[in-house]
Amino acid sequence: MLEFGLKFISGLNWVRHREHSFAIIYFHRVLREPNLFCPDDWTLDSFDRLLTFLNKHFNVIPISTALKLQSQGCLPPRTLCLSFDDGYLDNYTEALPVLERLRVKASFFIATDGTEKGYLWGDELAHTIKKTSKLTLMFKKRKYALSNDKEKASSYLSLTNSIKFMTNQERDESLKFITSQLGKISIPRLMMNKQQLLALSEGGHDVGAHTATHSILGCQSNQVAEQEINSSIDYLNKLLNKKIELFAYPNGHFPSDFNQEHEAMLIRAGLSVGLSTNDGGVRIQTRKTCIPRFMPHRKEINQFCLSILKIAGE
Ligand SMILES: [Zn+2]
Repeated sequence: MLEFGLKFISGLNWVRHREHSFAIIYFHRVLREPNLFCPDDWTLDSFDRLLTFLNKHFNVIPISTALKLQSQGCLPPRTLCLSFDDGYLDNYTEALPVLERLRVKASFFIATDGTEKGYLWGDELAHTIKKTSKLTLMFKKRKYALSNDKEKASSYLSLTNSIKFMTNQERDESLKFITSQLGKISIPRLMMNKQQLLALSEGGHDVGAHTATHSILGCQSNQVAEQEINSSIDYLNKLLNKKIELFAYPNGHFPSDFNQEHEAMLIRAGLSVGLSTNDGGVRIQTRKTCIPRFMPHRKEINQFCLSILKIAGE
């Protein structure tokens, strides 16, 4: 029944557009256990089940390969790309073994300050809140409750949601203030290291940039935005000893999180591919510095497979 539905929608897309479009889904972390601080992330069990199922019904290839095949007019129907944002270590320890078992390659987008430091600003915030013995935090005239794990997680999520839209400077000052209130702690390495990124790239996966400090470009001055883009690209070019081809915009919604000025910055940096988080499929005429991607949802899995093709054909 599912196969029939997939063939039908794929045929319909072909009739409408006279081309096979493809879809890209994105993940962040893949966790051993559910974590209140990361409610949108997948646990290893459900990730494994999802991917095993998708791999049966889709042609799963990295983004760079799909773009090449599409430009040559030989993209197979039902092409699906998997992408992972930020560069978390669990991508390597948890997700990669699943990808290897299924023999599929994916695309990883790295916020390169995390590679150097071992964590990103959001992780510092999460760990500071998790470890504090303080019961409340006053921040920008708002009181955040911290008396148990549930309160801590919900305070963390609402703080993150406000801090991520600040300028880098305001964000760093806010973080400094919060750690001074709650107590500074040391944070374990949470991101992949240089050798692991090199191994991904040499193993045939795409490695692309995702800014240096995971900064939402639309919230920064043009000068800071361009620095964020260029330094992450330069870092990866040097590390991987090749010119990287892909970039994913943090938060990624066009035109609020990035705009055409940032797309021009990518071109100036020598890249022609930028990934957003706006829903949609990738067609030949899609503007390649603003390629849509969407999150896998947790609907019934057959329905999800059908909606991948529906979204891809929109
Ligand atoms: Zn990200």
